[in-house]
Amino acid sequence: MIKICLDAGHYGKYNQSPCNKKYYESEAMWRLVEYLKEELLAYNGVHIITTRSSIDQNPALYNRGQRAKGYDLFISEHSNAVGSGVDNNVDYAVVYRSYKNKNNSDGLGLRLAKAVADTMGTKQNPRTSTCKSEKGNWEYYGVLRGADDAGCPLFYIVENSFHTNPKSTEWLLKDDNLRKLAQAQAKAIAEYYNLKVIPTLPAKAITPESDPEDIKWAQERLNAMLPDWYPELQIDGDYGPKTRIAVLVYWNQLGWGKHMQDDGTRIGKSTREALAAGRK
Ligand SMILES: [Zn+2]
Repeated sequence: MIKICLDAGHYGKYNQSPCNKKYYESEAMWRLVEYLKEELLAYNGVHIITTRSSIDQNPALYNRGQRAKGYDLFISEHSNAVGSGVDNNVDYAVVYRSYKNKNNSDGLGLRLAKAVADTMGTKQNPRTSTCKSEKGNWEYYGVLRGADDAGCPLFYIVENSFHTNPKSTEWLLKDDNLRKLAQAQAKAIAEYYNLKVIPTLPAKAITPESDPEDIKWAQERLNAMLPDWYPELQIDGDYGPKTRIAVLVYWNQLGWGKHMQDDGTRIGKSTREALAAGRK
């Protein structure tokens, strides 16, 4: 189980773009966090909390970081600004990570920065950065300090380019693009933790007369569940004798004596659920 704490950078209507008055950093990042939560939950073994239950809530920075206690990963989502006016040139993704490079945090940080840059098509190279307090003995940013003090192993601020850049601002205003950004970040996180997508479950019982796509789903899942000695099934959508016997072997493996009296030509609800859940 990977536990992730997501933080939408700001509340209410905060940080209006000088390029387009419709853009507020708080609103775009709130939506991005909602999408990122959905995209991450499409993977197996992921648990998510968010630091705000509504966009109008404003817990203190440090407290938001502290929510990451017992969590594996903390991410705060932002768009960046250079000065207060429009800047046509500065356009890049930067991810702030632990200045101590705790648990080699630069690795995932750079992957996230690259995922943002590739998706947004930003001008300058993606990068990681750090910021420590004046005396140099703690994280400068309150959310990161909170997460660090809570013992969270990996914590980041993701700056999804600049809302002072007109091109990036227009890009971030489109909902479809925020969805793409969430998918790209979720993929980077999934690759880092080696997470697998939860297979979708066919709705009806699977029989030799079923849609070949549903039969293929069963064949793929059976291959993943059955012992090495069982010959691998061809993923051909044809529910023949080998698939039928594979179902019987799978029931035997699960200790489902009652099912064993059947001939293995019907993959019912409990079997589909067991296959989807990866039960062996
Ligand atoms: Zn921000």
